[in-house]
Amino acid sequence: MINFQYLRASSPKSAIDGVRTDLSAQFIAGGTNLIDLMKRGITAPPKLVDINNLPLRDIADEGKTIRIGALALNSTVADHSLILKKLPLLAQALNAGASAQIRNMATVGGNMMQRTRCPYFYDPSLPCNKRAPGSGCGAVAGINRMHAIFGLEPVPDQHVCIAVHPSDMCVALAALDATVEVWGPGGNRTIPFTGFHRLPGSNPQKDNTLQHGELITALRLPDNALATHSHYLKIRDRASYAFALISVAAALDLKGKTIQQARLAMGGVAHKPWRLTEAEQVLIGKPATEATFREAAQVAMRGARAFEHNTYKLKLAPAAIVEALTRAAG
Ligand code: SF4
Repeated sequence: MINFQYLRASSPKSAIDGVRTDLSAQFIAGGTNLIDLMKRGITAPPKLVDINNLPLRDIADEGKTIRIGALALNSTVADHSLILKKLPLLAQALNAGASAQIRNMATVGGNMMQRTRCPYFYDPSLPCNKRAPGSGCGAVAGINRMHAIFGLEPVPDQHVCIAVHPSDMCVALAALDATVEVWGPGGNRTIPFTGFHRLPGSNPQKDNTLQHGELITALRLPDNALATHSHYLKIRDRASYAFALISVAAALDLKGKTIQQARLAMGGVAHKPWRLTEAEQVLIGKPATEATFREAAQVAMRGARAFEHNTYKLKLAPAAIVEALTRAAG
C-alpha cells in the first residue's frame, strides 16, 4: 500500500501552491501514465494535486493562433472541427497514439509530461539513470531496439540515457511551431515547444524544462498554410497499440509543385521530439519530388548514431521521411 495525500485544486493558484512547497508533490490530471508509474513502484509522490476541475479545457480560434487548454482530452482535440480543418497533422498524430480508451482519459498537458517507455526504466531491479541517477543504463549494452539515434553524447558516461520520448502528439507539435503557456510560482511564461523537452545531458532524470510547481495551462499553435499538405507517418510493431519505432510529422506549403514552406519532425529517435530544421531548409524552393525528399532525408540523418539492436533505424528513418513527405505532397 502506498500512502499519499490527495488534494483537489479549485484554481490554478491553489494547484500551484499545493505543489510548490513540497518538492516531491505532483499534479495529476488523466493519470494514464502517472498511475502506472505508481503501481509499478517507479515513482511514489507523497502528495498528488488533482487539477481536473481547473478551467483549462477550451479549444479556441484566436485569430492568428489556436489555443488548446492543457486539460483538453486527446480525443476531444483529435475530433475537434477546428483542429481537423486547420491542424490535421495534429489530429492524425493524436489518433496514432495510444488506444481509444487512453485518448479519452489523457490530457494534452499529460501527454507532454508522459515518461519514456524504456523497459529498463519500468523495472526497479535493473539499472537506469533516469529512474535512479548514477545506477547506470541497462539499455546501452542491453536490448536497445527502441532507443535513440539522435541527441546522444559522443561517449557514454555515468549519466548516459538513450531513451526516446514516447509521444506522437508532441512530434506534430514540434513540427507546427507550438508554444507552451506555463503558470508558476515565479509568474507566467511561454516556452517554445522545441525547448520544452530536453536532452538527457548530466540530468537524465529530468525530461523537460519545467521548474517545480509550474503548471502547463495551454498550447498555442500559429495559424499556417500547411493544412492541405501534411501527413503523420508512424511505424510500429503492431497497428493496434504500440509506441513508434520511427514516426515523421511532415507538412508542406506548395505553390504549384514548388515548396514554399516545410515542417518536419521525427519521433522515436531522441530523448525529445526531433525537429529537422536543416532538412526543412533543403526543401524550400525546390520541386516536391522524390529526389528533393531524398536529399532532405539525407541531411536529416546527419549525426545519427545507432547501438547494437537499433541499426535498422538508420535506414528506416530516411525512408520514413521520404514516405511522409510524399504522402504530404500528394
Ligand atoms: Fe534508463 Fe534511459 Fe538507460 Fe532506459 S535508456 S535504462 S531510461 S537511463
